[in-house]
Amino acid sequence: MRLVGKKKIIISGAGLSGLTLGTALAQRGFDVQILERSPELREIGAGLYTWENGLKVLEEIGVYEEACANVEFITKLDMIDEKQELIHSTPFTQSNRFCIIPRKDVHSALARAAIKAGVQMETNACAVSADCSGTVTLDHGKTYSADLVVGADGIYSNIRNSLNIPHTFEKVNNGAVRALISRKEEDKKGIAEEHWSAYRRIGISPSTEQFMYVYLTASSADEEGLSDPWNKKAWLSSFPHLESILERIEHTRLDRYFYYVFLQSWSKGRVALLGDAAHGMEPNLGQGAGVSITSALELAKQLEKNDIDTALKDWEKLMRPTAEKTQLWSRIYGSAAAQWPKELLGIRSEVIRKTLGSENVDRMISTAARHVTGAGDVFSLTEVPDL
Ligand SMILES: Cc1cc2nc3c(=O)[nH]c(=O)nc-3n(C[C@H](O)[C@H](O)[C@H](O)COP(=O)(O)OP(=O)(O)OC[C@H]3O[C@@H](n4cnc5c(N)ncnc54)[C@H](O)[C@@H]3O)c2cc1C
Repeated sequence: MRLVGKKKIIISGAGLSGLTLGTALAQRGFDVQILERSPELREIGAGLYTWENGLKVLEEIGVYEEACANVEFITKLDMIDEKQELIHSTPFTQSNRFCIIPRKDVHSALARAAIKAGVQMETNACAVSADCSGTVTLDHGKTYSADLVVGADGIYSNIRNSLNIPHTFEKVNNGAVRALISRKEEDKKGIAEEHWSAYRRIGISPSTEQFMYVYLTASSADEEGLSDPWNKKAWLSSFPHLESILERIEHTRLDRYFYYVFLQSWSKGRVALLGDAAHGMEPNLGQGAGVSITSALELAKQLEKNDIDTALKDWEKLMRPTAEKTQLWSRIYGSAAAQWPKELLGIRSEVIRKTLGSENVDRMISTAARHVTGAGDVFSLTEVPDL
């Protein structure tokens, strides 16, 4: 039943972006229904790099306390090369925070907030298509109508694929193995590290008192590096000095490829695409979910103050530069890590040191972290020259 005067929004996908949008809209008085194809609400994966933008979003929708209850904040993120020399160090402060939240913690906090705000949740509900009038069809044939349908159904989005919006969907030849490992007294506190050795990288970060978050990234062609189960011997051969970390890895999740999505338009009629469905990106900057939930809150704010057509137009105008700059810099970072010319590996650290030492590059890379929703602009972005 449609309530008179209340706009109805149907969201396909109860991932991080769908739940954030659903919560933010229900808190603003919208009638929200989320369709999730899985039998239960859950998040797979290990830790989630979360920067200032994501933390601000969690604060605004009231889930920060719960999601970050056990988190250890990071004071600096160090990049270290195979000679164990520092390439670059990024400092963090109270106004530029960074932490790694266990994915389950952030997802369950969001799911609880959505239900508390009044979102109607339907599991075992696989959306197969949507049409521009705002109708969504499930796999068993049932249809629902709304003032707006939002496809927050991830990288392989059925909603996106049913709309015929011109787009690029690219399989990128890099991948990752991720794990949460138990902590030991000897582990560094408050310091995250990314170690580089030829075309492999290992990220090691404190997450909570109980866990460290570890990722191992390599080119998809590196079969020993990206295997399931993971190959401890192969990784020890590249990073013998990290044995005390590697020996603790038990359960892993493998993503053999990363994906990149570019959509000519993020909406068509009364259907919008959100999160990975609209702008899936390589995870090298750890901002895919951060940009997605920032975009979700931005969309909720625009829908609160404008009619749907204007809201969709303004939302995309505000969010697209942030998403695209983050996609671009994530690709550049990933290419430096996995496609650097072999004969120039000897000078890679020095080139990266100089590049990341540039204030302009630093501002580009941190575009997403600096995005403040509802500001109508990304602050200071105008000072940064385009590439
Ligand atoms: C290796 C790796 C590491 C990453 N690390 C980070 C990081 O540290 N920090 C960060 O910010 N980002 C990171 N990301 C990116 C991040 O995981 C994604 O950007 C984020 O999960 C996108 O959220 P989403 O809600 O848009 O999509 P998803 O998380 O994919 O959620 C989609 C939801 O929709 C549901 N669904 C799918 N199809 C349907 C359907 N047909 N009908 C109904 N429901 C459906 C799914 O079950 C799921 O619940 C990483 C990604 C990878 C691959």
